[in-house]
Amino acid sequence: MQFLMVGAGLSGAVIGRQLAEHGHDVTVVDRRDHIGGNCHTERDANTDVMVHVYGPHIFHTDDEEVWQYVNQYANFLPYKNRVKTTSRGQVFSLPVNLHTINQFFGKTMRPDEAHAFITEEQADTSITDPQSFEEQAMRFVGRDLYEAFFKGYTIKQWGCHPSELPASILKRLPVRFNYDDNYFFHKFQGMPENGYTDMITGILDHPSITVKLNTMFDRNMADGFDHVFYSGPLDGYFDYELGRLGYRTLDFERFIYDGDYQGCAVMNYGEEDVPYTRITEHKHFSPWEAHERSVCYREYSRAAGPDDIPYYPIRQVKEKALLGEYVDLAEETQNVTFVGRLGTYRYLDMDVTIREALDTARASLDAIAADQDLKPFFVAPI
Ligand SMILES: Cc1cc2nc3c(=O)[nH]c(=O)nc-3n(C[C@H](O)[C@H](O)[C@H](O)COP(=O)(O)OP(=O)(O)OC[C@H]3O[C@@H](n4cnc5c(N)ncnc54)[C@H](O)[C@@H]3O)c2cc1C
Repeated sequence: MQFLMVGAGLSGAVIGRQLAEHGHDVTVVDRRDHIGGNCHTERDANTDVMVHVYGPHIFHTDDEEVWQYVNQYANFLPYKNRVKTTSRGQVFSLPVNLHTINQFFGKTMRPDEAHAFITEEQADTSITDPQSFEEQAMRFVGRDLYEAFFKGYTIKQWGCHPSELPASILKRLPVRFNYDDNYFFHKFQGMPENGYTDMITGILDHPSITVKLNTMFDRNMADGFDHVFYSGPLDGYFDYELGRLGYRTLDFERFIYDGDYQGCAVMNYGEEDVPYTRITEHKHFSPWEAHERSVCYREYSRAAGPDDIPYYPIRQVKEKALLGEYVDLAEETQNVTFVGRLGTYRYLDMDVTIREALDTARASLDAIAADQDLKPFFVAPI
């Protein structure tokens, strides 16, 4: 069969590769001048540092099959994400851990003492049924830690007060009562030695795959193909006819520094009056390389306009209602499957994106073998 993949990010690349391996012809188009989607990495011309062009990407997963899959296409080197934050004129360790708590309160508590201190003296136990992010944070960690580490960052990141965000964002106690400052819990973590774009180049490197860059999809392009896998924005497929799904976008202010600017890859800025959310110093993502000069991104978050890159889906009540209407339209569409973070309007980590892409390809191949139509969604967006 002839397949058209819209988007040369992880979703389009992984599904396309699986179909090509089973004898199908695959054309991949992307509106950008590079492959890799938002995981795209490239060497900075000034410093030679490998830059995560659309923001910092750290690979982490518990999924063994996904870990084996990415290791086929890249040499992953050990990398632990250790994030710091400035707040009230000091630098603290994130996620909030025993070091953060002892430093913040000027104490030398052991784990059980710190646990009792936070849950009995700090947490607001008068909140029995937290409804908002703010109430949930106050319930778990109390006002002091909430205001220093969660409030300002959240307001900047989401453009609204934490009292307007759902409690579900903070699912469990967001603190650790030991000195573990590894940002992620997952069993497998690492960074591809030559960047993510190199890895995705390997995935797309198959004789039955043709890649066309600088190519904007329009629906007429589907003629001549048996089926389309579309990883662009769901509302964009329908020319935004019902309105736009809300996204947050990011602005990166790039600067060069001679030497080591901040001593770590990611420094958050928790206070509301600092206009940016964090600074990323890219050379620290490749600790096995040596660079005198450094390239950094100051990161600002704001509501996405029509011409901005959509980064984080907002998925509040209003957006979910509109999403439901677009899903209804999509369900009536023939010969198109909507995939990936934009096609299903969800935040997806890379490992989840790959897992879903592998499953979608598998289910599609099964459907083809059984002479059945391919579904508009293999993963429900709502
Ligand atoms: C700031 C940020 C940080 C992140 N950090 C991490 C992290 O640390 N770890 C992690 O696991 N994940 C992280 N992610 C998630 C990661 O970026 C996604 O999992 C991944 O990019 C999803 O791949 P995708 O192919 O579904 O989408 P994308 O990467 O967005 O690819 C979609 C592609 O489709 C193209 N396209 C869209 N519309 C059209 C059209 N009409 N015509 C042609 N082409 C089109 C786009 O140009 C794009 O290249 C982060 C995401 C963001 C936003």
